[in-house]
Amino acid sequence: MAIYNPKSLKAEEFINDEEIRATLEYAEQNKNNFELIDSILEKARPVKNPDGNGCTCKGLTHREASVLLACENPEKIKKMYEVAEEIKLAFYGNRIVLFAPLYLSNYCVNGCLYCPYHLKNKHIPRKKLTQEEVRDEVIALQDLGHKRLAIEAGEDPVNNPIEYILECINTIYSVHHKNGDIRRVNVNIAATTVENYRKLKEAGIGTYILFQETYNKESYEYLHPTGPKHNYAYHTEAMDRAMEGGIDDVGLGVLFGLESYKYEFAGLIMHAEHLEAVHGVGPHTISVPRVKPADDIDPDEFDNSISDEMFTKIAACIRIAVPYTGMIVSTRENEQVRAKMLKVGVSQVSGGSRTSVGGYAGYSPDERPHDTEQFDVSDQRSLDEVIHWLIDNGQVPSFCTACYREGRTGDRFMSLCKNGQILNCCHPNALMTLTEYLVDYASPETKEAGFRLIEEELKRIPKDKVREITAQHIEDIKNSNSRDFRF
Ligand code: SAM
Repeated sequence: MAIYNPKSLKAEEFINDEEIRATLEYAEQNKNNFELIDSILEKARPVKNPDGNGCTCKGLTHREASVLLACENPEKIKKMYEVAEEIKLAFYGNRIVLFAPLYLSNYCVNGCLYCPYHLKNKHIPRKKLTQEEVRDEVIALQDLGHKRLAIEAGEDPVNNPIEYILECINTIYSVHHKNGDIRRVNVNIAATTVENYRKLKEAGIGTYILFQETYNKESYEYLHPTGPKHNYAYHTEAMDRAMEGGIDDVGLGVLFGLESYKYEFAGLIMHAEHLEAVHGVGPHTISVPRVKPADDIDPDEFDNSISDEMFTKIAACIRIAVPYTGMIVSTRENEQVRAKMLKVGVSQVSGGSRTSVGGYAGYSPDERPHDTEQFDVSDQRSLDEVIHWLIDNGQVPSFCTACYREGRTGDRFMSLCKNGQILNCCHPNALMTLTEYLVDYASPETKEAGFRLIEEELKRIPKDKVREITAQHIEDIKNSNSRDFRF
């Protein structure tokens, strides 16, 4: 039997079934131990650094975090939400980073039971973008105002080999339409080899994202009955290979609804602990997708669906357990759920998303093709509506992509978070990239609300010099075609 060891490179040792079950038992036994819960929350809170610059957070172990998740006391849950928000504001401020998915191909050789792209689905049209079509999609995305994409593809060594993915990345970065630019391409493709991860790194990708789907090996094998994705160890160990290939920023996630959420949560935090133990840096992001209706897929077939309340609590507990990790919520969730998630620590959202292959170019904002779609999108608002909504919610929408372009990846990004330089760095970058959006793409109403917000937020930049330079660049963006200023 595998023995739990967070430093091991073997999937069943760092995501250890026995340890997860013991954790869930411990959490159940202690869910009403309010003294313990208070001490866990106290440990998790941000503490000011001795030099007065920034804060530090200790984070939580998977056992501690699981106790919080198990607790059902409304007062303690309220406290969890407060601590989650406090952590979010300490490290990420009130900024929310925007991105959009770009589906390259829905050819897939896997048999995932929850995904419409599964091989046996014979009625979904299969489509793979040509480089000309990639260019058209990128122009359409740039015209919406996007600067950051997550590319998505099924797994198919013949139709979507790594060379195809690399060619698409190259094309995406090469398109500069009007003042548009895609400055960060995150990649969500199937688990692959160290050599291929190295190629992705060389192509200049941002984060490599791979959802675990479920950490429960038995369920994993059941849900992925055929194809290369069936191999639990190969999939679970992918992030270690990505890091060996030089990718510092990796994004974790589980598809909530497939397995018991408590099991998934413990597995997710253990995965983060493992990355920290082996590579000295935790995950750059954690995504929290929930399984959605799709062609040939009925989410009711999976009997682990979670309520919106539980979903919000899971997000709060993730924020508390891994304070420096960005958290992503997609348009799988509707406006109401996304609003709740913003309060408990989400730092990135997608906007104006299309989940079909070729879903952007040639379609008006309220026209959406469904034929090759991966799942139903719940938040169908345009990017401009999402931006306006964020502003109305007191958030600063950010199109910043500076960190990885300035070499601040992995632990260098984490230290920026910890030493309190975010207000002198990320905040000005957010304001400058928001200005680009407002000048180049926004509706008059969003523009007005946005510039009002920028005026107020400029005052919060602590260093005089940084504030002056930021204000100057904002004027430059308004009065010329100069773009892409960054700290
Ligand atoms: N093919 C790659 C892989 O196997 O990891 C990744 C790309 S896939 C397009 C992106 C993610 O969509 C999957 O990892 C899965 O979690 C999610 N997904 C699949 N079917 C879904 C559904 N019905 N509802 C919500 N999300 C779904």
